[in-house]
Amino acid sequence: MARPTPAERFEQNVDRGGPIPLVRGVHGRCWIWTGATNERGYGTFWVNGHTVKAHRYAVELADGEPVPTALDVDHRCRNRACVRRSHLRAVTHRENILASSNHVARRAAVRACPVGHAYDEANTYRAPNGTRKCRTCRREQSRARRAAAREQQLATITPLTIPTPERQAA
Ligand SMILES: [Zn+2]
Ligand SMILES: [Zn+2]
Repeated sequence: MARPTPAERFEQNVDRGGPIPLVRGVHGRCWIWTGATNERGYGTFWVNGHTVKAHRYAVELADGEPVPTALDVDHRCRNRACVRRSHLRAVTHRENILASSNHVARRAAVRACPVGHAYDEANTYRAPNGTRKCRTCRREQSRARRAAAREQQLATITPLTIPTPERQAA
């Protein structure tokens, strides 16, 4: 039997039954790399005497030419283990950084809390995990908690202090 080609060896490490990504414009299941991975979760593949990133090599295999070294290969599906060509795109390093910071930018663009109070300087504080919180909502929540506690206190005291006529008669 002839020695397998790199393409054949590559194919042996691909599971085409991966999850369907919930990213608009990215279609079909992820193809999961089942071979070796590096410490950051990217697949690695040994070819021509050195280790390459599997998703990068997947683009080279599909396109039939090397990806220019100035370009990164970005996972459109956000799944680092994926090696499906249609889920990948070659981008400049800068574009790649912008794509991964996109969800942070989207969040920053939200100008009000879920109830609709403005996230302005006076009304905003940072939770320990860095997300923005609304002071108005916090004030209203603690006011509601205090009111509920007061009601609870009254409810536990009142029935004991009012003797019922039935009990007096007996
Ligand atoms: Zn994918
Ligand atoms: Zn609010």
